[in-house]
Formats: sequence, C-alpha cells, structure tokens
Amino acid sequence: MKITRELIGRLPKTDLHVHLGGSIRPATLIELARRDGVELPSYTVQGLKEEVFKTEYGSLEEYLDCFKYSGAVMQKPENLTRIARELAEDNMAEGVRYIEVRFAPQRYAGGEMNLSQVLEAVNRGLSSAKQEFNTREAVVSGKEPSFDFGIIACAMRYFTEGSSLYFRNIFSAHAHSRADRVFGLASVELVGAIVKARQEKEIPVVAIDLAGREKGFPPLHHREAYMLARRNFLNKTVHAGEAYGPESIFQAITELGADRIGHGTSMFNAEAVSDPSVKDRQRYVEDLVRFIADRRVTVEVCLSSNMQTDSRLKRLEDHPFRLMMENRLSCTICTDNRTVSRTTVTDEVFKAVDSFHLTLSQLKNLTAYGFKRSFYPHNYSRKREYIKMCMDYFEKVISDSV
Ligand SMILES: [Zn+2]
Repeated sequence: MKITRELIGRLPKTDLHVHLGGSIRPATLIELARRDGVELPSYTVQGLKEEVFKTEYGSLEEYLDCFKYSGAVMQKPENLTRIARELAEDNMAEGVRYIEVRFAPQRYAGGEMNLSQVLEAVNRGLSSAKQEFNTREAVVSGKEPSFDFGIIACAMRYFTEGSSLYFRNIFSAHAHSRADRVFGLASVELVGAIVKARQEKEIPVVAIDLAGREKGFPPLHHREAYMLARRNFLNKTVHAGEAYGPESIFQAITELGADRIGHGTSMFNAEAVSDPSVKDRQRYVEDLVRFIADRRVTVEVCLSSNMQTDSRLKRLEDHPFRLMMENRLSCTICTDNRTVSRTTVTDEVFKAVDSFHLTLSQLKNLTAYGFKRSFYPHNYSRKREYIKMCMDYFEKVISDSV
C-alpha cells in the first residue's frame, strides 16, 4: 500500500525532541512581542519567515540565533503557559499523541520567575491542553489513544552573561571561576531544581538534556550534573554529533550515561574523528555504531533541522538516517524545532518514508520506537498499556484505509 502524507497525518505519532522556544507560533511571537515591547525584525508572519525562520541557514549558530526572539517573549509565566499549550495543540491537530518538550529553564529565569516557576508555567500549558484533549468523547470511550507528555530540561554547554538574567547572576556569583566550571555548576543547579519540581510539585520532568554549541564545549564539564541526575532516577539525553565528531557521541554515552542521543549525524563520519589517540578512524566508527546498536541507545533523528545546519548534507538521501536504519539502530523521527525548521511531525515522517523508501513495517517499527523509547512519566505497566493502545490504533488506521 502507498504511504501517503495524509495517512501519516492520521497515524498516532510521537515527538521526543522538540524545543519549546523553536516551536513558537510566529503569530503568537508577534502578538506577545507587540504587547511586551520586544523588538522583532518584522511584525508579519511572512516577514518573520523571510528574516528569521528561513528555509536555509548558514550554520548551526545562525539557526540557534532564532531562539533569541522567542526567548525575549518567554520571560513571563503567562506567555510560557500559552506557548506550551499551543505547542501541544499543534501536535494534537496532526495526530501526535505523545511529546517530550525541551527547553532551558535558565534562559527564562532570573526576572519574574525562578527555575521552578519556569517549569510550573510550561507544565500548566501542556497539562491544560492534555486535559482538554483527554475529555473528548473519542478518547474517553477508548476509541482513540489519549495524549500525554513529558518535560526535558536542557542544560547549556555554553552561555554568556547576555544569554539571560539568570545566567548573568550565575556569572556574577562565580566571578572568580573559569567559564567551563560555571557552565558545569549551572547544570548541577538545574538538576537540583528538576528534582525539587518532580518531588514537590509532581511536574513530569522526565530527563535532562545538554544543548547549545557543541564544538569546543565538551560533555565532560557536565559530568557532575549528569551523575546527580542519575542518582535521582532522571533519564538522560544529550545533543551530540550534530556539530562535532563521533567522539562527542561516545563521550555523551560513556561520560554522561546518555540513554538517547539528539541528532548523532556525525556517527558514521570517520574523517571527523579528531582524537589523535585513535589510529584507525574507520574502525573507531564501526565500533561506535555497534556499541550504540547493542545498548539500544536511541537516536532522535531530526532530518529537516540537520539539512538546514549541516553543510555536508546536500541531499536528504545523503543523510546518515539511511545508515542508521541499515545498522538496525533504534531511531525515532523528531522535529527539533517546528517553527525554526518550518516543519511538523507529519512532514518529517513523510520525508523519512519518501526519501528512504520505508516499508509499512519499517514505519510501524519506527513509530513503536517513539513510544517505547520515550521517557514516559508514569509506571511501567501503564506505559505498556499506553504503547499497546497507540499501536493498536496504528493498525486500525491502516486497516480502515485499505
Ligand atoms: Zn535540538
């Protein structure tokens, strides 16, 4: 049977790698910026698409630059709640049933909110959308699977005093420490806030992530924070192998204990191995791929985003997703940033199916990985029931359309 975009739109899906700040609706950004007196390069949706949210970017740095506009309107709790609710609604509208929304609370704290209040504000928005969706007749009657979510808090590999009020305060409190030590300390503090939010407010913060500039800012600075996360039963994911070589992925798994890897695009790139102690770079890459496959470390694949930031990738067919599938890695298709990458989960899954000629059975496996390798915030029995409900619904949508 032909897998059409329309069919994918109706299938249950997940998005385990989506940044809140990069997924703000452009119209909402404009409205909030006007109200809060934030300067934008344009105040029309079309203008923002030409000036900020482009189809192509010169580098990862230029891509990440988009976050400064959304960041400026995410300093108030009511704005965060709205942006989070709209993100959940946009996902529900295209059949996505489970999302893990990530953001760096430190970017929005220091003014009106502390770290906990940032987490609370986002949780309010996601929870209200979830509650509304799950009281629909089709969900209550069990005809369709419910919607759920988890929150992933991002530690930052790199930041400056200008990144946010919170970061400015951290730098001034540690004025005599080296910058890399301050990056690490900020991550430890973040884990403390996550643990408190989980225990005292029952906010479903399911994991810690490490985001931001990769080259020159190794995962080692954040080992203490990841150890603390581990001791508190937090899951761990790391942006790695996006803008730096395969060793970055290896370090994320071995030094930080990553359960999942964001992007991992450099995984097969032997030429990018820069560690002088590695004598046979091709062998190193092969060992790394086997290591990842054996441990079932899941790769959060973001096709459009990678095409926009990795200048080595000329055609989608060249994306290492093909090799990841051939090597039987556990992969899940994600958006990264719905607005910055101008995409949706349906678009991303369709791109994967269309460019890599996936069969229905491969699509089913890929979908199941999304649900199975999620950091679902409830107990394991409930997780299994939820996966079954979603995958039964997958079968039903397919059989109804034959
Ligand atoms: Zn990302």
